[in-house]
Amino acid sequence: MNETTTHEKAGLLERLEAGPVICAEGYLFEFERRGYLQAGAFVPEVVLEHPELVAQLHREFVHAGSDVVEAFTYYAHREKLRLVGQEHLLETMNRRALEIAKEVAAESGALVAGNICNTNLFTPDDDVRRTVRAMFEEQVGWAVEAGVDFIIGETYAFAEEALIATEVIRATGLPSVITLAMHQRPDTREGWTPEDACKRIEDAGADVVGLNCIRGPATMLPMLEAVRASVSGHVAALPVPYRTTEAQPSFQSLRDPDYDRLPGDRPFPTALDSFTCNRYEIADFTRTAQELGINYFGVCCGAAPHHIRSMAEALGRTPPASRYSADMSKHAYLGSAAALKDENLSYAKDL
Ligand SMILES: [Zn+2]
Repeated sequence: MNETTTHEKAGLLERLEAGPVICAEGYLFEFERRGYLQAGAFVPEVVLEHPELVAQLHREFVHAGSDVVEAFTYYAHREKLRLVGQEHLLETMNRRALEIAKEVAAESGALVAGNICNTNLFTPDDDVRRTVRAMFEEQVGWAVEAGVDFIIGETYAFAEEALIATEVIRATGLPSVITLAMHQRPDTREGWTPEDACKRIEDAGADVVGLNCIRGPATMLPMLEAVRASVSGHVAALPVPYRTTEAQPSFQSLRDPDYDRLPGDRPFPTALDSFTCNRYEIADFTRTAQELGINYFGVCCGAAPHHIRSMAEALGRTPPASRYSADMSKHAYLGSAAALKDENLSYAKDL
């Protein structure tokens, strides 16, 4: 798609009116897994160190069915960069991430999203509110200058912090997607239920509200149902792809009974492999959430392209990656195609 046609592409709200939208996420975890980002501080330095890899992961997600290229500015905020002694890279990192996202989106006509997130500073104190607002304003400003299609504010455990993000994004005139992160407790850190918090955020002008990160499909779904019932607009659902349970509802609270030599006291964040949802569980989640009335989908930390393809296919789509969706009929030992060798097929059956 050339420059002219990208300007004419349908925007987020137009697309949501026409059907579901998918936004692949989980960049921090995926680059950590690939060996280009450090768990702990979780700062996206890979944007400057290996921009070509960031572009490639964006492409893989679009290939798998993501409608959105989300600029990798998650945790590229002033507080995080100060923590790792790289505050001088703040603006460069943000601008570069936005530029990469824009380049990749232009290849397919995908939407480009700017991104801000939890600051880890918030307390209900006026000085802190001002600091948080200023942090959002600088990042949102760079996103606007880059020409993004909409802006995501995500992973807020304090709904009041999400409300500040909503105000800052709303002032730009661009559509906003605001999502809360619900940890072990079933309410926000100020004690609001997710449905109450989302209602307040919608009333403050957010175009899409919902939940992202921290909880897997099983422990996010009941909350999504309550959110859907309390708001009138679009609802977002971006769980982590891990098998969280009622007793261990967040991926930080998961404990692994089968392995007792972890470097820390829990599998989070580097030993969650055995809890990972398979692609079919993500498809199940997608169908159930769609039946609830969710129409903005994604997968957060832990997501890989096969999850996104599965999500897209569950929504009735055939993204380019569907060309390679499994066809076991041609498997040498377990298949059914006429050309397969009987010796191999019967050998497998004997097992
Ligand atoms: Zn996440």
